[in-house]
Amino acid sequence: MKPVIASIHHHKKYYCIGSVLLSTILASIVLFNSSFKTEARKTKPNVIVILLDDAGYADFGFMGSKDLQTPNIDQLANKSIIFKDGHVSASVCSPSRAGLLTGKYQQRFGYECNEGDGYTGMDNSQTLIPQFLLQQGYATAAFGKWHLGFEASQHPLKKGFQYYYGFLSGGRSYFYQPKKDDRDGAKNALFENNTQVKFNGYLTDVLGDKAIDYIQKNKHQPFFMYWAPNAVHTPMEASENDMKLFENHPRQKLAAMTFALDRAVGKMVNELKKQQIFDNTIIIFLSDNGGAHNNQSSNLPLKGFKGNKYEGGQRIPFFISWPKAIQQKKIFNGLVSSLDILATVLDAAGAKTTLQKTQTDGVSLLPYIYGTKKGSPHEQLVWRKDAAMAIRYKQYKLIHVKQLEDRLYNLEKDPGESKDVKQEQPAVYKLMKEKLNQWQIDKQKPIWTEGAVWDTITLMIHDDLMNNRKVRVRNPEELQNFKKKNIQ
Ligand code: CA
Repeated sequence: MKPVIASIHHHKKYYCIGSVLLSTILASIVLFNSSFKTEARKTKPNVIVILLDDAGYADFGFMGSKDLQTPNIDQLANKSIIFKDGHVSASVCSPSRAGLLTGKYQQRFGYECNEGDGYTGMDNSQTLIPQFLLQQGYATAAFGKWHLGFEASQHPLKKGFQYYYGFLSGGRSYFYQPKKDDRDGAKNALFENNTQVKFNGYLTDVLGDKAIDYIQKNKHQPFFMYWAPNAVHTPMEASENDMKLFENHPRQKLAAMTFALDRAVGKMVNELKKQQIFDNTIIIFLSDNGGAHNNQSSNLPLKGFKGNKYEGGQRIPFFISWPKAIQQKKIFNGLVSSLDILATVLDAAGAKTTLQKTQTDGVSLLPYIYGTKKGSPHEQLVWRKDAAMAIRYKQYKLIHVKQLEDRLYNLEKDPGESKDVKQEQPAVYKLMKEKLNQWQIDKQKPIWTEGAVWDTITLMIHDDLMNNRKVRVRNPEELQNFKKKNIQ
């Protein structure tokens, strides 16, 4: 303030005539300036959700990776709140996305399994984060993988996104393939809004560039960007240049794909800084499920992988960056869920009344980010996909799979989930069984399932993991071979 007042006096000295008028103008400038600043402080933050696909718990520098290079993501994470006990609501792509975007256990509307027999996609009576944010004056955009339904009424443009650049299916090539993924009308084809488009180069780079265009065009208003690249889901494809950078690397393809992903994130962050909107942009970084068995990923020291109820299936790399509120790295150990994103974002957007009126299974993480609340945002979290269920309660985790014997683990003492403690802790075991049953009361049955083949595979994987054995069968091809061998 002082320099401004000094300059008013300075001006008064030299302009005696009309000095009253002048000082009025200057005073208004001062007032305008201060109210502008107050207004600016109140400005709604931009929100970018970076939702990766099948990324491993351990596959980023900030998560302890020694062999993969993620300098840009690490730089961002190093000034963020990092959730070490952060989870998605499903260990496979499609239901995980349904939970995140609605802020509800997806079993509330039957969206329990990955795309399979009788798949119907997103229940259109649900309200998604971008639909709430449109009401708050946000511009909204979705990039990359959708995987929430193929009906016209389930298209991103009908679900609250004003702009869309991506593909509707669960996966595709990272390169333009006119005879395969990009043939006319293919589910995997790339679309800009309603128009099928060609693209040049590597898809992760393209999605990054499109995000930068969007930031440039929308920098003057708050925006919500759902940036969901298919990286690092199969097919394992990287650009020649990136492959060269990692010659002789034991996980060459994943290293190259992850490096491209990191480059895209770095470019987005640089653009935000260049446009001077980085400080008030919330970046929520996570993976839709744990590392998969088929993409060279690592979930260590966690047990299990994408698709099963062990921690490697649904505990994910997860952080929130918001320079305005978080200036230095903070490790958060409380139990956190992707279901919290909706409440956190609405809270940050100043939509408290809307939030109060909205049914959500999440909580706003803002008080934990500000440090005004301590402890764990959740006492319990539950996962269910058809026959396989798990419940986390405080430090305990119960895994219940139909036809198999239950397992109870103490994650505090046994983060690798190898020692069943249900005999030692009968009271805890009983309580958690009750809590799991309680949770199921107001949830629906799955509208579709993944079919008999995947049911068998999922059961066999759990049987092996629950008995601390090497997993025999991980996909339909391995199941075929296993059956052949065992019939002979
Ligand atoms: Ca996934």
